[in-house]
Amino acid sequence: MSGRGETHRAAIFIDNPVFGRAAWNALHPLAFSRQQAVRDMVEAMGWIEQSELRECPIATPETLARFHAPDYIAALQAAVARGKVTAEERTRYGFGTMENPIFPGLFERAAATVGGSIAAARVALQGHIAFHPAGGTHHGKPDRASGFCYFNDPAFAIATFLDAALDRVLYLDLDAHHGDGVEAIFAGDSRVHTLSLHEAGRWPHSGTPDNPGPANATNFAVPRAINDAEYDWLIQGPVAEVAGRFAPQAIVVTAGVDCLHGDPLSAMELSNRALWRAVECALGWAPHIAVLGGGGYNPWTVTRGWAGMWAVLSGRDPGEVPNEAARALLAGFESDLIDEDEIEPEWLDSVADAPRPGPIRADVMHCAQAALERR
Ligand SMILES: [Zn+2]
Repeated sequence: MSGRGETHRAAIFIDNPVFGRAAWNALHPLAFSRQQAVRDMVEAMGWIEQSELRECPIATPETLARFHAPDYIAALQAAVARGKVTAEERTRYGFGTMENPIFPGLFERAAATVGGSIAAARVALQGHIAFHPAGGTHHGKPDRASGFCYFNDPAFAIATFLDAALDRVLYLDLDAHHGDGVEAIFAGDSRVHTLSLHEAGRWPHSGTPDNPGPANATNFAVPRAINDAEYDWLIQGPVAEVAGRFAPQAIVVTAGVDCLHGDPLSAMELSNRALWRAVECALGWAPHIAVLGGGGYNPWTVTRGWAGMWAVLSGRDPGEVPNEAARALLAGFESDLIDEDEIEPEWLDSVADAPRPGPIRADVMHCAQAALERR
């Protein structure tokens, strides 16, 4: 195979047929079938072999109950089965809303996302690099749907590492939004450190200097329009310092691609190369790593961001020029969130973005200072 050599950890791509099925309706930011597009892209590029794919199980209600209230699990399952949500369920559990709608197959899909995170941590424990792009539902609460998340799959990846008797697990959240759900679940658990790098002034508005979270959390709330130079500086400096002090035995990364330039739900301005560098950096911090997906709402930047992430993790070259099949795939995307004149030429004929350099602003240094002063 064309992946990493023997001295490197082989990468495993976690998948399940439910991730490719029709899901959110056309008006939802997740309407675009992200997992299918990423699968199609890595296949078109010749970047994946059968031996690198692992089909994950669908988590059972008993498994889900480790972090989720049994009444919430049962209510969600029943509502999806009957195709209707009561007013009481909507208020109490947060599903059946515009943000967290129910649709056929939702329960299976959300449970498979959890099954995928457990599988990702297991293959990471076996010495592989795990990639689970359908994972990363970091806003999920024990008894409530939140921010397009119904369960909290990253928590299950972390717990799988803890079950293997590891007692220093780093959670690294690179999504544009604060990883509030994961932080809350492990608040006060000294075996876990949650580190989130997200855009200030965005929903859910936590993880800021005014609202810094528990002692085992570090939050970098970065100013709008963060560029590659600022991001590299943060990751290789303050973020690496926090990670180094914690000395993790395993890492769970939520690699939301809504931090990339062109995403309609954030104003971070990173190239996908900067995000890949951050994850590559994290590969060196611990022997076991599971990389999950997360947010991402621009079909072009999502597909290129995660297809290229897989290339990087599996030792391939994301700078490779897309072939005809890959270009046809990119040309066929549509999105209600992106106007046609906003589609950038490089989104159609490359996987790797051009660098997005810039000065390192004082605000970025201040945000790092604020995060580190708590330690
Ligand atoms: Zn996000």
